[in-house]
Parts: sequence; structure tokens; C-alpha cells
Amino acid sequence: MQTVSSQTPDVGSFRDLDGLTRELGVKDEGRPGPLILLTAGLHGNEPAGIRAIRALLEGLAETHTAGRIVGLAGNLSALRQGLRHQGQDLNRLWTAENLRALGTRDPKDDRPDEAELRALFSAIEAERDEARTHARPLILIDLHSTSADGGGFTVVPDSIPSRRLSRALQLPVVLGLEERIEGPLMTWLVSQGDTATVVEGGQHDAPDTQAILLDALWVALHHAGVLPEDDDRIQPAVERLIAARGKTPAVLDLVYAHPIGHGETFEMRPGWDNFMPVADKEPLARHGALEIDAPLSGYMLMPLYQGLGTEGFFLCRSVSRTWLVTSRLLRRSWIEHFLRILPGVKSLDTRAGLITARRGAPHWLTGLLHLFGYRKNAPIGDITEWSRRPQ
Ligand SMILES: [Zn+2]
Repeated sequence: MQTVSSQTPDVGSFRDLDGLTRELGVKDEGRPGPLILLTAGLHGNEPAGIRAIRALLEGLAETHTAGRIVGLAGNLSALRQGLRHQGQDLNRLWTAENLRALGTRDPKDDRPDEAELRALFSAIEAERDEARTHARPLILIDLHSTSADGGGFTVVPDSIPSRRLSRALQLPVVLGLEERIEGPLMTWLVSQGDTATVVEGGQHDAPDTQAILLDALWVALHHAGVLPEDDDRIQPAVERLIAARGKTPAVLDLVYAHPIGHGETFEMRPGWDNFMPVADKEPLARHGALEIDAPLSGYMLMPLYQGLGTEGFFLCRSVSRTWLVTSRLLRRSWIEHFLRILPGVKSLDTRAGLITARRGAPHWLTGLLHLFGYRKNAPIGDITEWSRRPQ
């Protein structure tokens, strides 16, 4: 370790990451196919994804591949210190405002995580430009791990190609989380029409986490069509991922997020893992002087057991297969034009993916808008603007 930090590293130092560089490797045999961007370590206390990408690229050495596969490390300086970040969360900085500011600010004035944003942004932009000239579609697979235990899952924007990719990975798919979080890398890419998924491999230090991430990468590459159809590593990986999901529902919808303000104290009660069932009113945490009880029943997601974080926990509900099929069919049909005549709806622009409606939409309307993919909402005066990701 060259860098010494006054903070206590979350998970110790990662000796095998000494000498880590931004580019983890490239596999490109000059054959047509998508650009697959593999990113890991956007949070510096999550080294399992870096190790999984390295193992994947080693495993690909003797394999014929299509397209271009690029592995990139996220927050290099935080990874070297074993810290989640150095003051700003690198996976919350991908907003139009922050990215524009990179062009006007002298790099010397960048704060440490902003310098990481600048370097990663330019590496990704160079790849995107190159992909555009070859008319390659872009697929992002961003690897993470969590402070809580309870196995892996995927976080996916509610667009049909991204959903299909995530379903192929067999882990529980969480919908509605991407739209709640401000500024993740994934959102910046999907809002431009790219396909993306975040894979959470499990607890940061759990021995299985790296293996789950690696299995997910193999299956994702196969799904994207860049591996030989008969690659015999895929089926065992699929089976291990199915076993890792266990009894957790295949698809869940995020229904509640518990925000933590800057400088507030938050302490989760011990014993919560991802996807444990939660009963309504069950005591969950202490936030400042307040006891926090579950506002509804569901499944626990990402209870916060580390110092740094902007959300204390999330609650999800299981999504039925019927809902998934219906939503896929509806989004391809002319029926969505009828949303315009529903009570409370003011305007509809299906091409831009925007609906405006009276504030305080009734429960049934919110549910219907979700079915068509409209999840992100922002108040503007006395109306709410609902938007969806490119479908
Ligand atoms: Zn993370």
C-alpha cells in the first residue's frame, strides 16, 4: 500500500490490488458484436468485482469472442485505501450537472472522487465514441457488493432489454431502485438508450461474492452473444446462480427507501440480511433519536451496516410473472396512448417517455404508470412529471 489514510479502511487493505490500473483488460478479436463495459470498484471497499473481472479476462484468453469486452476499475484511490469513497460517492456523481462541470473546472480543483469521475468518464467516453463508429450497441455490467449478507441480486432500470439481461443472470432482479438513486453510472448510460445492469454479488468479504460475480459475468457475456454458443462453462454457472437465489422471488419491486441526511446518525438493528421478510411495524433501526419501524411489509434490501451511505434500508415486494409479461406487451402496443385520457393525466409524450399528471396521483394510477415503465417522478409546481428509461 502506498497510500496511508487516517480513516479506518472498511474491509482492510487489499494487497492483491497493489499496482491496480484503470484498465483491467480488453478482449477484442476485431469481430463484430457489442461493446461490453465491465466496471467494478466504483465503491473502493468492494474489491470482489475487480477480482471477478480479472478472473473472467484470464478465462477468456483461450476463447474466441465477438465484439469488444473492456474491464475498468472505478475509484482507484479509494480501492488502494480500502475506503468506500473519499468524501463523495463515485456512484452518485453521474449527473448531467456534474459531468458538465468537468468541462469547465480546472482538473487541479477536482476533489479526490471528482478526479476519479473525470478519469473514468473519459475512459468510458473514448470507448463509446469508438463503439459508435463501429455501430456497436453498448452493454454495461457494473459489479458491486453490499455490507449486509444474504446473497447476490441485480439492480435494473425498467427497460425491456435491461430487464431481459438481468433475468438471464438468474439472481433476484430488483426493479424501481435505479430510478430512486440519484447519479449512478448505470443511469447515465441507460438514459442514453444503452443496456445496463448492476450486479451485487453479496457481502463485501463473503467467500462466495467473487464467485457469484464471476458466474454472472459468464452468463451475461453468453446472453450478449459474444461467447461460443456451446461454451461449457455457462450451464454450470447458470445452475450455481439459480442455487444462489434460493427461495427469494425472481423479480422484486422496490416500494420504500429510508433516506439518511448528511451528518445524521443511523444504526440498523443487528441481524438483517438482504431479502429477509419484514413484517409491517417491525422495529428496524435507530435514526437520530427516533426508533424506525417498518412502514409496510415486504423484503429487506441493503440494510446499512457500514459508516457511509445515503439510504438506511430499502423494502421490496415480489413481482408476478403476469405483471412482467403484461408490462412487456403493453409497452409495445398502441394502448399506452390511452394513458392521455385518464383522470389526472395532463400530457403524454411517449417518444420522450414523459407524462405529466396532477400531484398526488392515486394508487391505481401510480401502479398503471409503473406497468408502462414510468417510475421516476419529480414535482414541478402543482404537477408531477413522470419519466421512463428508453424502452
Ligand atoms: Zn457498491
